[in-house]
Amino acid sequence: MPGGCAPGVAVDQTYLLILAAAAIVAIGAVLIIRDRMRRDAREKTPLDSPYATSTEGMKVCPRCGMGNLWTDRTCISCGSALKG
Ligand SMILES: [Zn+2]
Repeated sequence: MPGGCAPGVAVDQTYLLILAAAAIVAIGAVLIIRDRMRRDAREKTPLDSPYATSTEGMKVCPRCGMGNLWTDRTCISCGSALKG
């Protein structure tokens, strides 16, 4: 190997250890960023369609689409009777 930059095995191992540590840190950073992006996506998704379908513990008014408590018999918004 002419012109090699590896003077000794000990130094080479240290260099590999530094490379491995740097790679682990880089991978960890990528995983953290991905996890944050996934969390952001999960948090943003429900806001798009809050009352699209009947949610548990809620009654969606068939007339105005207002979300009411499941204990309510009439809509708090328009006063129409709620099903269920
Ligand atoms: Zn209503």
